[in-house]
Amino acid sequence: MKSNVVEAVNSQINAEFESAYIYLGMSARMEEMSLPGLAQWLRVQWEEEIIHAMKFYDFLVQRGEAVELEALSKPTATFATPLEAFEEVLKHEEYITDRIWKLNEVAEKERDYALQSLLKWFIDEQVEEEDNARSAIDALRLVGNDGSGLFLFDREMATRTLPPANAPA
Ligand code: MG
Repeated sequence: MKSNVVEAVNSQINAEFESAYIYLGMSARMEEMSLPGLAQWLRVQWEEEIIHAMKFYDFLVQRGEAVELEALSKPTATFATPLEAFEEVLKHEEYITDRIWKLNEVAEKERDYALQSLLKWFIDEQVEEEDNARSAIDALRLVGNDGSGLFLFDREMATRTLPPANAPA
């Protein structure tokens, strides 16, 4: 692989692990807010991001390239309400989508067809990630940030598990 492509994939490994850490931090805040369902949903999101990171990690290993792990930033969740939390999730996923598309541009420019093939999965996954965040935002706008509506929504979010396609092999 070309060195600039390897560097870009390593940078994405870090971005996926950072995503995981951000969501775990948010999950911990939800536990403090006594919203175990939203905490569970974000904890599953944390697991998914680890799987994303490892897809890129294994890709570099399979291609005989060096994985370079970087330090992770301290997560800084600033939300005061569940709605604000999911607005942060959406904003973060839009940022990740932008990164994936830019990585795809590098793969196209350097004619790395194997990376483009891997990125096809990530491009589709990002559509789903953004949709999940928007659905949660829509629901939270309907039910509000407290009361029985939020209680029921929290229960619904507790049912999230890793989809089979995302489960570790
Ligand atoms: Mg991801």
